[in-house]
Amino acid sequence: MNILQSLSNIVQKVNSAPDLQSALDIIVTQVRGVMGTEVCTVYLADHQEQRLIFRATEGLNKSALGNLSLGFGEGLVGQVALREEPINTNNAESHPHFQYLEDIGEESFSSFLGVPIIHHRIVLGVLIVQQTAKRRFDESEEAFLVTMSAQLAGLIAHAQVTGLVDLRADAKAVNAEFRGVAGASGVAIGRAVVVSPPADLYAVPQRQSRDSYEELTFFRACVARVRNDIEQLSLQLADRLPPQELALFEVYSKMLDTPALPAEIEELIEQGEWAQGAVAHVIRMHLQAFEQMDNPYLRERAVDIKDLGRRLLEYLQQANNEPIIYPDNTILIGDELTASMLAELPRKKLAGLVSLRGSRNSHVAILARSMGIPTVMGAVDVPFMQVEGTELIVDGYAGLVYFNPTLELLASYEEIVEEERLVSRGLEALKDLSCETTDEHRVSLWVNTGLASDIVRSLDRGAEGVGLYRTEIPFIMQDRFPSEEEQRTIYRIQLEAFAPSPVTMRTLDVGGDKSLPYFPIEEDNPFLGWRGIRVTLDHPEIFLSQVRAMMKASVGLNNLRIMLPMISYVKELDEALALIRRAHAELVEEGIDALLPSIGVMVEVPAAVYLSAELASRVDFLSVGSNDLTQYLLAVDRNNSSVAELYNSYHPAVLQALVHVANAGHAAGKPVSICGELAGDPGAAILLMAMGYDSLSMNATNLPKVKSVLRSVSKVEADELLAKVMELHEIEDIRALIEVLFEEKGITRLFRNQIKQRQLH
Ligand code: PEP
Ligand code: MG
Repeated sequence: MNILQSLSNIVQKVNSAPDLQSALDIIVTQVRGVMGTEVCTVYLADHQEQRLIFRATEGLNKSALGNLSLGFGEGLVGQVALREEPINTNNAESHPHFQYLEDIGEESFSSFLGVPIIHHRIVLGVLIVQQTAKRRFDESEEAFLVTMSAQLAGLIAHAQVTGLVDLRADAKAVNAEFRGVAGASGVAIGRAVVVSPPADLYAVPQRQSRDSYEELTFFRACVARVRNDIEQLSLQLADRLPPQELALFEVYSKMLDTPALPAEIEELIEQGEWAQGAVAHVIRMHLQAFEQMDNPYLRERAVDIKDLGRRLLEYLQQANNEPIIYPDNTILIGDELTASMLAELPRKKLAGLVSLRGSRNSHVAILARSMGIPTVMGAVDVPFMQVEGTELIVDGYAGLVYFNPTLELLASYEEIVEEERLVSRGLEALKDLSCETTDEHRVSLWVNTGLASDIVRSLDRGAEGVGLYRTEIPFIMQDRFPSEEEQRTIYRIQLEAFAPSPVTMRTLDVGGDKSLPYFPIEEDNPFLGWRGIRVTLDHPEIFLSQVRAMMKASVGLNNLRIMLPMISYVKELDEALALIRRAHAELVEEGIDALLPSIGVMVEVPAAVYLSAELASRVDFLSVGSNDLTQYLLAVDRNNSSVAELYNSYHPAVLQALVHVANAGHAAGKPVSICGELAGDPGAAILLMAMGYDSLSMNATNLPKVKSVLRSVSKVEADELLAKVMELHEIEDIRALIEVLFEEKGITRLFRNQIKQRQLH
């Protein structure tokens, strides 16, 4: 077997391990086998105690596992961890850092090769191989072990965090933190209710049954129905399949005989697990055993077991009409939450959402923002099947989820929730006041919308217009492109609700992570691919019917502005402008009293920053999309939780770009706005106002806070702050400076939650 194959084989086996210890046991057995060494051992780091624990071995004394540890820097193992580099010696005993450990049985092994296991800069442990013979491991062996360790690090880290919330584990870790991306801001504290799509063996939560006797009877009835189905299938196919193939059905029937699978399932049900959970658990265990087999024929049998499991689950789910009881402050958790799952429970009960898959632009996150439900998306490590009924905290600002919170952490977050409640009550009074600084500098505060349900919330909070209406949202909600007339009706609702205030409608911005179910775009690099204006210019029929619908919807109201996303070439703008003018001319020809609206460009690609003067000269306004601009300037995927810490719109490069765009727009005599999330950040809002942004467009939730902040400073103070900020190179220093101003102005109260929330991490 070649090296790549061995690597991928081991990784696959480790990947399907049910828990951390099994993963480590697989690692030591497999690595020892592939490298042909006498010993393979893993030490795992306990950073709190600053120790490396002897956790798994093949070849040394297993009875010492878990009882033996070394400090960082102690012995060869400790040195590997401390220095974060391998040690390879053919004479361990004579190494200056050698330390003799009793009971472990390693005295006879002279050759030692240890490599650190590092994940995201953190040393998770040390992986070691040893030999009796005094021979230095050669370069290729060392390289193999380093490669192995780098690959295993991610899996070990995953197994570690997954194990953190295992409710059945004796030592359950407190404040188990899981990172995702912020889906909708706010904090929620509540209890987990796991939701899953039907008949998915990997998405059934563990749950206690109400009555195990009833559950057992129910399970047996379902087994009988599956057996019956299989017999029927076998009969139907009897004359079409050769006997050896039909034998498969016998295998199925045998598997359903009580001493086999059902006995294992029934045992779990008797212990209190609900039937669905027991079926999913047992089938998954069997699948794992099959999938780990090297024999391809036996591996194939896994398919049959899976099929059987699905059939059982389907009956159990169909017949199970027990309604889910949603506790107060329900936090819905699922592998992939969908909008319909959200619709199934009363709004009053719903406190927060956590989805393992999906991003800020997923359907469910869009809805959550519109409804003001704190949400974390992309929390891939959350072992959602084990968390039913547990208490957790959803931090929708930072994109974090905490299980088993300590009373202290709970108290901190409860304070944030309470603070928010008080602040938002206090802010209601601001609704009808204008957004004006103490020295009478005015800024328009607009909202970002997409759903009809955004309208009321926005108006309630005193929005002075819509700075970004994301038209892809009504498109995403459909199962085909909406017709021109359907679009006109939808757009009219937005325009009417805000008239005479302006409503800025962005032309269809799909691609990237925003895909339409009926118009899939498969690409290796979707954010650098076919998205935004690039798609619609390639499909003028879609573009034309959309801008026609917009202009028709605005007849008699005339508060429409059209905005073009993802412009990176002047030529793209010229083509789009020509299409809009053509659509307008057609409408006029058709006798429709449509006016040519204001047209603007979104600056969200670095190329557009540099071209902003030229772009501004051709349109009526510029609007910065800071979400994408940050992603493209910093080369950080806005939806990737593993680089989330690097995604920050306070980055000095982003701030410089923002200044440049504002100046270029104004030099051309055109108004400049911003409609990315940054506009809704109270600290950034001060800077943006100082930069000269004429309007800030944000989600309705943040609008009153931003207004309150801008009303408590003067333009002069904001200018001074900006001048100082532009001298700084570190984000932390920039934030600190803003916080000093908040203190001086006595408005820290408004952000205590955000400041505190930052301190918590
Ligand atoms: C942006 O990129 O900042 C923006 C407002 O557009 P979206 O978030 O919809 O990509
Ligand atoms: Mg964008």
